[in-house]
Amino acid sequence: MLPQCPIVRNGHLYNGSMKSADRPSRKSQTRHSSTGKTCHHFDYHRMTCDEYDALRARARGCCEICGTPEGRTGGKRLVVDHFEGRGIRFVRGLLCDSCNAVMSCVDGRKRWGANRRWEEKALEYQAASWQQPAPELWGLVATVQAHRRVLLGQRRR
Ligand SMILES: [Zn+2]
Ligand SMILES: [Zn+2]
Repeated sequence: MLPQCPIVRNGHLYNGSMKSADRPSRKSQTRHSSTGKTCHHFDYHRMTCDEYDALRARARGCCEICGTPEGRTGGKRLVVDHFEGRGIRFVRGLLCDSCNAVMSCVDGRKRWGANRRWEEKALEYQAASWQQPAPELWGLVATVQAHRRVLLGQRRR
């Protein structure tokens, strides 16, 4: 059995079994879309438009690791970064494409290169994640990341 993973959103526990009255309305999932389709942030991260706006406000339009303004990042966009593993999933913040790759290294999904100089900043950013897993789950997050790094190190080409 995997541990339960309650995510704290806006001070309330969100575990997918909310009463229907507490569920976000359709309108609060489509506001950023000109075609009325469900926003990516809701489809993939279950963040309402208000929550996405609040995350953008926290980031102040800049990558939350390197501080590059959105318009000057390589991809001219900021992406929603999240951790996923062992039944734990939480949104960490908004990043440029290169810092998103930094987090793939932190997560043990990619090998570090010259971008390792961002490691310390990346760990500070992760600790200040937008959605916080239950405090006792941070140890498991670190274990998952360390385990993947070991697997990556053992892989031979
Ligand atoms: Zn939206
Ligand atoms: Zn960045």
